[in-house]
This record gives sequence, C-alpha cells and structure tokens, in this order.
Amino acid sequence: MAKQPMLKFVTVERDMPEKRDAEIRKEDFHEIYAEYAAEKAREQSGRCSQCGVPYCQSHCPLHNNIPDWLRLTAEGRLQEAYEVSQATNTFPEICGRICPQDRLCEGNCVIEQSGHGTVTIGAVEKYITDTAWEEGWVQPISPAQERTESVGIIGAGPGGLAAADVLRRAGVQVTVYDRYDRAGGLLTYGIPGFKLEKDVVMRRNEQLEKGGVAFELNCNVGEDITFADLRDKHDAVIIATGVYKTREIEAPGVGARGLVRAIDFLTASNRKSFGDAVEEFDTGMLNAEGKRVVVIGGGDTAMDCVRTSVRQGATSVKCLYRRDRANMPGSQREVQNAEEEGVIFEWLSAPRGFAGDPVTGVMVQKMRLGAPDATGRQAPEVIEGADYVEDADLVIMALGFEPEELPTLWNEPELPVTRWGTVKAEFNTGATDLDGVYAVGDIVRGASLVVWAIRDGRDCAAAILAKLDTPEAIAAE
Ligand SMILES: Cc1cc2nc3c(=O)[nH]c(=O)nc-3n(C[C@H](O)[C@H](O)[C@H](O)COP(=O)(O)OP(=O)(O)OC[C@H]3O[C@@H](n4cnc5c(N)ncnc54)[C@H](O)[C@@H]3O)c2cc1C
Ligand code: SF4
Repeated sequence: MAKQPMLKFVTVERDMPEKRDAEIRKEDFHEIYAEYAAEKAREQSGRCSQCGVPYCQSHCPLHNNIPDWLRLTAEGRLQEAYEVSQATNTFPEICGRICPQDRLCEGNCVIEQSGHGTVTIGAVEKYITDTAWEEGWVQPISPAQERTESVGIIGAGPGGLAAADVLRRAGVQVTVYDRYDRAGGLLTYGIPGFKLEKDVVMRRNEQLEKGGVAFELNCNVGEDITFADLRDKHDAVIIATGVYKTREIEAPGVGARGLVRAIDFLTASNRKSFGDAVEEFDTGMLNAEGKRVVVIGGGDTAMDCVRTSVRQGATSVKCLYRRDRANMPGSQREVQNAEEEGVIFEWLSAPRGFAGDPVTGVMVQKMRLGAPDATGRQAPEVIEGADYVEDADLVIMALGFEPEELPTLWNEPELPVTRWGTVKAEFNTGATDLDGVYAVGDIVRGASLVVWAIRDGRDCAAAILAKLDTPEAIAAE
C-alpha cells in the first residue's frame, strides 16, 4: 500500500505575499493582510473585461450584477460596490466564501473560458461585504412602516433567514422557529469554520434580531409546537427545514463503534468551536485526533469531513469514492485543497463491509465504470477478486442526505411531497397546495447550495408580499 505523506495544514489563502510567516509580528498581520486583500480585490476587479455578455451573472443563481460591482471596486468606489452587491444577495460575504464558484460564476467568466484564469469573483464579493461590515455600512433592518401581518418560518438556515430578511424589511412581523439552539442551519452546524467563520454567521443572526425578527430557538416543530398551531398563528408559514436524514448503507459490520455519520462529526466539531461541552467529542467518539480516518463519499460533505479530520490531527485521512475523479459530485477545487493537505483519494472504491468492533478497517471492493444508467451517468460495477482491507479507527459516512417525512412527523397528510419526500412547491414562489403554506431551500430541491436557498427565500418572500398586497387580501383584513 502506498505510504501516506505527512499531513500538512494549509491555513491562509495560498497566494499570500512573500513577506509572510516568521518575519511578520502577529499584531502586524491583520494590517498587512487587509492591505493585501484590498490590493488583490482591486487587481482582480480590474481584470474584468466588462465583456457585455455576462455569463458570470447568468450563472449566478441570484443573478448578481457582478460586472458592475467589479468595475466599482476597481475604481475604488467600494461603498457603491457594496450597495449593488447587497441589492440582490442577502448574505454576499457568505456566498463569497462558500459558493462553489468554479461551477457557477467563475467557471463561466469569459476570461476563464479564454484560458487566462477567472476573475476571483467570490473573493471580491467577500472583500466588499467584509469591508462594509468594518466600515459600518451594514445597518440593522429598519422598516419604514410596521405591518400587522405575521409570517412564521420553520428553519433558520439560509433559506428561512433570507425570507425573514425580505419580509421584515417590508414591515411584516416575522418569527423564525428552529430546533437548534443557534440560528444559521448548516451555515452554523454543518459547514466547517475553516470555510465559513462562525462569527460571520452570528453577526448576520444578530443583525436580523436587532431588526425585529423574533427567534424561537430550541423549538422542534412537530414536538414543541404543532404545524397546525403555526398555521393558525400566522398569516403564512414558510417551511425551510433542509434535509437531515442521512443515507445509510447496508453492509456487514454496520453499527460497529467507530462508524459515524458525517453530520454528527461536523456538528460536534462546530459545537466545539463555539466552546460548547460536547461529550462525544471529548470521549473521542466524534474526534479524529490520532486516528486513521476513512471517509466514505465523494460530495462536498465528504470533503468537509476529510479536511476537518486533518485539522483535528488525524494520523492519516483517506477518502473512498465509488466512481472516478471526473465523476464525483463534489467541487474539484475542494478535492485539490484536500489533496494539498495530504488527503489520499481512493477512486473507484466502495465499502463491502467493516471489520472489528470498534472498527479496525473497511473491506473495500474495487469498481470500474460500466454502461450509463437511466440518469446518463456511468454506473459503477464491482471488479471481482480485487478486494482489500483499508485500516481505520474512525469511519465517517458521507453518503448524502434525504428529507425527513414531514407529513407524518407533523401529522399533516395533506402537505404535498414528491416521491423523494421533498415538499412540492411552485417554482419561483415556493407556494404549496396548502393555503398559506410555502416551502424553500433544500426541503424543496433536495441537498443543494446555500446560494439557491437564498434565492428561494427571497423569491418566496416577494411572492408572499405580493399576495398580502392584493385587493382581495386587503379586503379580507
Ligand atoms: C457539511 C455540508 C457542507 C456544505 N457546504 C456547502 C458549501 O460549501 N457551499 C454551499 O453552497 N452549500 C453547502 N452545503 C449545502 C448548504 O448548506 C445547504 O444547501 C443550505 O444550508 C440549505 O439551506 P436551507 O435553509 O434549506 O436548510 P438548512 O441550512 O439545513 O437549515 C434548516 C434549518 O431547519 C431546522 N429544522 C429542521 N427541521 C425542523 C423542525 N421540525 N422544527 C424546527 N426547525 C427545524 C434545522 O435545525 C436547520 O437549522 C453544505 C451542506 C453540508 C451538509
Ligand atoms: S453568489 Fe455565488 S455564484 Fe453568485 S456571484 Fe457570488 S459567489 Fe458567484
């Protein structure tokens, strides 16, 4: 078996200036970094050719006016750039950090297409809004007029919060219900802090709270309050609950100690970063330190698990994926980041079972890609006789997420769902067939992206406002 290279831990952005590291005193670091970021943002913005066919914009789910805010940044008109950027995006600094830009705006930049390397749109977006926060340009919501109507939002992830922001700005009374103790959904407890710093998420939560959005945290709808009660209480209800049921595999050895779910592993790690007491982390059950870690899966969640394991001090980290590199669902940029940190990818490899309890290894079967299946993707086939055992002390399952069964959990059989269990909702408005009930984000799309959840939340809020303002609605008041 190939020898595992030393794991290295790349912390800051890769192309920091030469004068970094040892010579820089800690107190100078922030200033030098800020100067560097400003210089980089101006330089990158100036590379935009203002091509007139902004594929970047059309491939951004929010249709952000990217060429305009790049031009304003290049001209040093940052506050105006911020105004343009926040007009279409509720959380630009978050998208700037975690959108898979290589699949969205940057992947479609004409400069990238012509082989000269993309304008780093996400980094500029992040820079503009981080500066806006520093300069005090980001203000709490202050509606011109209060309205009497109220909307209840179930789920404080990006979809629910984006809707809350738009509705509250229009003066609607908004209450967000979430079963967790902190708002933010997967921004808070799923995505690791090295990709999305938690204070960046918390300051948005505070901004919404200061603007009058009420949060009912530790409130599990279906247990602590019924869905029917929420519908009685509010003029409209938005379901923004995300997808949390982990896909499982059936194989010998499942259930052994040392086999854990990705969401549990990442949540424990994020909770630790908040300073919470997390017993399962402290006992080692959800902690990769000193362990040989094997992560199973090829999506972005798997990438987060391998990179978190490196940071926790795993002795080795391997990722098993049943297809090849070209066919993995995760971002190629994330794979490259993981590889640079020492993670080894075992492509065309799937678990046949698990040895030991606690686990000591994964029984791996080698695969090849066969004929395309109904979806057009080449289906993996087992290569008989090529099995081997991959040693492991911690196996993290990152096989994807499915929706929970909301109609059953909420005792609402009329709530329309698709055959995959996602809520059936109208494109562009989020309206469901239940009167006054809307749905947005992952619970409609299946596991997707933050930027799509934001788009859904904004569209749905706009549709609710339009409905509240119709003559029939006003007459009914
Ligand atoms: C590990 C991981 C990493 C990811 N990384 C990225 C990334 O880098 N970039 C990207 O764009 N996307 C990423 N995603 C996807 C992204 O996080 C989701 O698409 C996005 O968060 C969906 O937003 P949402 O508002 O629909 O749901 P969520 O963010 O999941 O929020 C749903 C909220 O609803 C609450 N809730 C659920 N049920 C109930 C109930 N019954 N009562 C009360 N509250 C309830 C939950 O507690 C949660 O707070 C990642 C996902 C995962 C799992
Ligand atoms: S929101 Fe995402 S896709 Fe849109 S410009 Fe920003 S980084 Fe690119």
